[in-house]
Amino acid sequence: MSEQSPAAALDAATLDAADPLRHFRSRFFDPGAQVVAYLDGNSLGRPLRDTAAYLSEFVAGAWGERLIRAWDEQWMEVPFVVGDRLGQVCLGAAPGQTVIADSTSVLIYKLLRAAVAERPDRVEILMARSDFPTDRYLAEGVAAETGRTIRWLEPPLDSGVSVDLVQEALSDRTAVVLLSHIAYRSGYLADAAAITRAAHEAGAVVIWDLCHSAGALPIELDAWGVDYAVGCTYKYLNGGPGSPAFAYVAAAHQATLRNPLTGWMGAADPFDMIAPFAPATGMRRLLTGTPPVLAMQPLIAMLDLVAEAGMPAIRAKSIALTEFAIELTDGLLARLGVTLSSPRDAAVRGSHITIDHPDFREITLALWDHGIIPDFRPPTGIRLGLSPLSTSFAEVEVGITAIHDELSRRA
Ligand SMILES: *Cc1c(COP(=O)(O)O)cnc(C)c1O
Repeated sequence: MSEQSPAAALDAATLDAADPLRHFRSRFFDPGAQVVAYLDGNSLGRPLRDTAAYLSEFVAGAWGERLIRAWDEQWMEVPFVVGDRLGQVCLGAAPGQTVIADSTSVLIYKLLRAAVAERPDRVEILMARSDFPTDRYLAEGVAAETGRTIRWLEPPLDSGVSVDLVQEALSDRTAVVLLSHIAYRSGYLADAAAITRAAHEAGAVVIWDLCHSAGALPIELDAWGVDYAVGCTYKYLNGGPGSPAFAYVAAAHQATLRNPLTGWMGAADPFDMIAPFAPATGMRRLLTGTPPVLAMQPLIAMLDLVAEAGMPAIRAKSIALTEFAIELTDGLLARLGVTLSSPRDAAVRGSHITIDHPDFREITLALWDHGIIPDFRPPTGIRLGLSPLSTSFAEVEVGITAIHDELSRRA
């Protein structure tokens, strides 16, 4: 334990006792004493306690007994049934616009190609330098393939893409705006509704990457008028390592949607096998190959848990967790040279914060050895991902106290 007096107005035990979502923590798998504080639920969400039983039931039932018949009986529809459920519980999306498929990276490629094709006379893709690497790399690839250029926004490291920053860069050259709803490093929460409106006024098409917001705060894709969106299911949606991603295509874009990866599962009749390729109607045309049905199973159970808790309560706890983490950072770490690289205003902050110090690369390794698990983000950041349904205030306190103790030992 640290010798410091309590740094925050309220202590972790009081906050945990008053947390209306506290009982959800017992629904997650208990890793025992070797995990002391898990602060990386935004990179890989924890499994549910019932996930093993649920998977085992799937193996014995649908897969083991129904075998190939299960494709006709239910599996062909699973990407759309689970997509609609995700759309309803987390995305503010009416049915028929969300599908579970591929990885986020592959879906970014598909949607970006489709969106660029909608604006053949426009040359720019608008993105941010602060975006996650795969988004940038894919956009560079698509730009090279399609003869477009990327116009890079340069937001400050500790914040993100404001409406003004986007507004200044938009023009009649802008084909597509591809941005992250929550910045993977700073946690900055972009005003998706206002940016979408501004992009549409400039005649551009919008794609939102929801990897760090899906399951962490309410999203209203239909109400915001978003064209396309994509995101992970293994972060705040606890789908498991490499669980498939989701894509949203607003109904208005579906009839003309051009999937650049035309495979049999996106064809009008996959089992015709003789006719030349013709795209399926609706979201099915975004598919390419056989849907990863096995890998979607843990997500199904997690969506029930999210629905039970409700997104407003999840957002409220998320804000309380990040506020607490910032209070502790100010009280314990600031005087040791640690800086906050995330917004102080909860209204523009997601469910993680990043703090910076030159020693954090080594300190992260030491923390992992002690079962305290945040993640490291270059060049000098520790990112604390606070997953509202599974993270306790005590974990936040233990984690930040351990960072304090490591830094003090080195000073
Ligand atoms: C996690 C993350 C990804 C991951 O993409 P994968 O294809 O699942 O590896 C992409 N974009 C953002 C913004 C992310 O945070």
